[in-house]
Amino acid sequence: MKPIIIVHGGAGKAYSHKTERKKGVKEAARKGYGILKNEGNAINAAVEAVKIMEDNPVFNAGLGSALGIDGEAEMDASVMTDDYIFGGVTCIKDVKNPILVAQKVMEETEHILLAGDGAVKFARKMGFKEFNPITEGRKKQLKKRSASSLYKNIDKIIEIYGGGTVGAVAIDKNGKLAAATSTGGLMYHLPGRVGDTPLIGAGTYASPYGAASATGYGEMIARFMVTKEIVECMKSEGFQHCAENFLEKIEERGCGCGVIAIRKDGVPLILKNTPVMIGAIGAFNNIKVFE
Ligand code: ASP
Repeated sequence: MKPIIIVHGGAGKAYSHKTERKKGVKEAARKGYGILKNEGNAINAAVEAVKIMEDNPVFNAGLGSALGIDGEAEMDASVMTDDYIFGGVTCIKDVKNPILVAQKVMEETEHILLAGDGAVKFARKMGFKEFNPITEGRKKQLKKRSASSLYKNIDKIIEIYGGGTVGAVAIDKNGKLAAATSTGGLMYHLPGRVGDTPLIGAGTYASPYGAASATGYGEMIARFMVTKEIVECMKSEGFQHCAENFLEKIEERGCGCGVIAIRKDGVPLILKNTPVMIGAIGAFNNIKVFE
């Protein structure tokens, strides 16, 4: 199997930091692809690509995460492999790389999802040091608007703050598939809000048929189980059509989102019903940015 990685840096109506984000997704895809080329496995490639973007403050994940109305950065992340093994963290604070903690949940526990203080305690036990992911830019954003006018209208928040959630899907030389997704969630969310990103079948999903990572309006992505449906489409020959139809249908119901996916035979799928979704694909010794 020829290895492939696809990464995204968030779907939305518009972008801030366009040049920096393009550079960021390219760097992430290059890192992940390098791992795959060196016999690395799909899960490590996807996780490392996501980690690169978590460390880059232009994205809404890890450093630079969006803030809730209380000024806290509660982050979500999850990983899944094609043997239905899943790990996630939700509302985790004070760590640098939620995606690495999600991978530890998957590999070191019998659980699928750890939340809040429990997730932080687990992270410390696994050796992740305390880290403040809140940037000055995010603090300024928080001061700019009255949250109460926005949080009932969350699709507007994505429009104004331009997404920036990150994700990756990969297939390695052995044909193993994996997906990883990480986010600071939506700006101005209520404390304790759980979006789609840490939920199996919503923000992240993988099965023997394919792997997918989604971005966009989290509450809607979760309701429509977007990544699960996209991977289900991959069971059929007309999977592209099936996936396009699905995205069209859920758009009518108010679900603005983008998805990256890879089918078990290595066919990539990049779809969105939002104006933009930035990302990059690493395949055939080449890294290409898309938006
Ligand atoms: N899906 C993310 C969330 O709702 C946000 C995004 O993808 O921009 O938490």
